[in-house]
Amino acid sequence: MNLKGKTALVTGGERGIGRGIVEELLDRGMRVCIAGLDTPSSAQTQDDLNAGERLVFKETDVRDEAAVAHAVRSTVQAFGSLDALVANAGIAEAHCGPVESLSLEEWNTVLSTNLTGPFLCAKHALPELRAGSGGSIVLIASTRALQSEPDTAAYSASKGGMVALAHSLAVSCGPEVRVNAVSPGWIHTADSTELRKEDHQQHPAGRVGMPRDIASMTAFLLSGEAGFITGQNLVVDGGMTRRMRYHQ
Ligand code: NDP
Repeated sequence: MNLKGKTALVTGGERGIGRGIVEELLDRGMRVCIAGLDTPSSAQTQDDLNAGERLVFKETDVRDEAAVAHAVRSTVQAFGSLDALVANAGIAEAHCGPVESLSLEEWNTVLSTNLTGPFLCAKHALPELRAGSGGSIVLIASTRALQSEPDTAAYSASKGGMVALAHSLAVSCGPEVRVNAVSPGWIHTADSTELRKEDHQQHPAGRVGMPRDIASMTAFLLSGEAGFITGQNLVVDGGMTRRMRYHQ
């Protein structure tokens, strides 16, 4: 699909990687609904992007099924159709300690945002995506789906679940709807701490990633140019998961 004039629902698009994705899709002529928590950054994003009627915001907690269903309906009401879903909203580790002290509540908080949220979004977006001329879903997972630091059980499990959700949906929902995951590595966002020289140097690509790196991959996957790609997990990490690292 040519993205110009098409409609996307992007969760958590107010800041960070999601904001980069929203900017990229608007640049390519899409109409975008941001589904996110109502925070000061939401109003700020709408002012900053100055996209007029091509950008709407719907207050949505992705863990809340009724709110997700409402966001999908509102997008279709605002723009007449839904062609793409980007499930980006996520939270990092609520708990960074040993699994023995990870509470069920902490586990559920991470899983409900990072895995149940994308499931709910896909569930309610699919009828609309199927109704058009062919739709596409991108789930923003993480290289944590493939490798871990110690004590990140809930986050890694949630992201691994997203990668599996992507191929399960792809096999179930094709050929009308393609579904892929994008797994970012280390992405520097406006909220991140300042980077050091060695942060860049350890990457085979020579630098830490930026939101635009994920945004351009997402836009490519949504477009017709990626028409033969579905069920995949595209790793965008500057080569870090390909670098073998043993302590000397
Ligand atoms: P941020 O924390 O900067 O942004 C996350 C966005 O999701 C925020 O807008 C946040 O809203 C929103 N959000 C959180 N919970 C909910 C919810 N329940 N309902 C709706 N919106 C919600 O994260 P990043 O931009 O860094 O990450 C974006 C995605 O990319 C995440 O899924 C993350 O796991 C993944 N990722 C990020 C990497 C990185 O290096 N940055 C690496 C690998 C993966 P609010 O502003 O209110 O908090």
